[in-house]
Amino acid sequence: MEPKSVWESYSDKQLKDMHTFNDAYRVFLSESKTERECVDNIVNDIEKAGYVELQKVIASGKKLKKGDKVYAVNMNKNVVMFQIGSEPLEKGMNILGAHIDSPRLDLKQNPLYEEKGLALLDTHYYGGIKKYQWVTLPLALHGVIVKKDGTVAEISLGEEEDDPVFFISDILIHLAGDQMSKTAAKAVEGEALNIICGNKPIKMDSPIKMDKASKTKTAAAAKTSAKTTAAKKNAKEEAEEKAKEGVKAGVLAILKDLYGVEEEDFLSAEIEVVPAGKAREAGFDRSMIMSYGQDDRVCAYGSYKAMLAIKSVKRTACCILVDKEEIGSVGATGMQSRFFENIVAEVMNLTGSYSELLLRRCLANSLMLSSDVSAGFDPNYASCFEPKNSCYLGSGMVINKYTGSRGKYSSNDASAEYMAYIRKVLDEGNVIFQTAELGKVDQGGGGTIAYILAQYGMNVIDSGVAVLDMHAPWEVTSKADVYETYRGYIAFLNGEGM
Ligand code: MN
Ligand code: MN
Repeated sequence: MEPKSVWESYSDKQLKDMHTFNDAYRVFLSESKTERECVDNIVNDIEKAGYVELQKVIASGKKLKKGDKVYAVNMNKNVVMFQIGSEPLEKGMNILGAHIDSPRLDLKQNPLYEEKGLALLDTHYYGGIKKYQWVTLPLALHGVIVKKDGTVAEISLGEEEDDPVFFISDILIHLAGDQMSKTAAKAVEGEALNIICGNKPIKMDSPIKMDKASKTKTAAAAKTSAKTTAAKKNAKEEAEEKAKEGVKAGVLAILKDLYGVEEEDFLSAEIEVVPAGKAREAGFDRSMIMSYGQDDRVCAYGSYKAMLAIKSVKRTACCILVDKEEIGSVGATGMQSRFFENIVAEVMNLTGSYSELLLRRCLANSLMLSSDVSAGFDPNYASCFEPKNSCYLGSGMVINKYTGSRGKYSSNDASAEYMAYIRKVLDEGNVIFQTAELGKVDQGGGGTIAYILAQYGMNVIDSGVAVLDMHAPWEVTSKADVYETYRGYIAFLNGEGM
């Protein structure tokens, strides 16, 4: 089967709608570079559309009924939203799932140091990255520093035109003899991913005066005592030490000034280093989007926007956007957390239909699209793909019956029956879709959150958007696919069940 072109299928009206949707998507990408920023921006948007915080509904003592819209946020990094359908919840929900964390560099807990007149920040990378891609790029810092008294300093530095940016150096080609003979995996090592963040020593008035005084003292003492040789040396070292740390002291003074924080406050900080700059249109024809973090914010954006697009639904519509997918869906805000199950229980309770058994039925009877990006066929690396079972930019929503690697290990393999249902729903919604697997057999592979929800006995299938340069600082999607996948999500949410 030849892939269809979304571009050729669109009317002028659809093309216009597609561009409008993608303009808003680009703004979202530019303003949502961390999972926390995603949650903030999504909550602001869905509240305008009538979504109410779950805890407020609980506190009010009101019940939830058909058409009501609620959401819950988990630790500022994970959000789930529901629109109650006409059918009882035990019949199951239509669930859209995606993740809002992206590969990046995280500052270590003790990051700041100085070496030879440069201040640096040490990092530990997050998720699967090719380390050599992260050097000599303008970088921005995003995140929070939480002080002991609980106050939070929010940081976003490097995005505005007149903001300073940060960077990781790379060795010049003239001196790269050793580096160029290494494998790509070793050319830039994890411990070399240190952010250069300053070069100007602070004007340390009092320490400099002190140094002069101690020098005089040691000079006088040298005449009378043999011990003074050591004392002189100590004072000199001390002065040199202070001068050496002048750049670091300068950076700390600026942090104090900007955010009211001390060096030790880094201990309770989460600062993510990401590529600086906005999402851009790509190509002469402006047909693509190039941006940081499209894995998986392209699916997260389309999913929550689809929740806002549906009118009334038969099956309760749900969208869960999780953190920590890139490192195995672990922790309190990852898909493996009980958060989702707990909130579903709360929602059932508010509809007057909670019991442990009804909750289990609800989860087992639910249908899910686990949405994540797929590896778009790349003509520059054609040998990594099997053309019949690859996805192509501009050919629509991607459905992956299975993911995994080396003999489908760690895969969620959706049933043929569910695959047939998805085909029907998408065809009835006139959604152009393609099927794919991640690269050719034994080239590599990957997993998503699909298998975790499948543990409830739920039908789950992987779907999403084709991406070029996945996990690189700048990833590329086709605008046609972004919009068509959003249309696919709407068709899925309106689906009446198997
Ligand atoms: Mn992903
Ligand atoms: Mn990923």
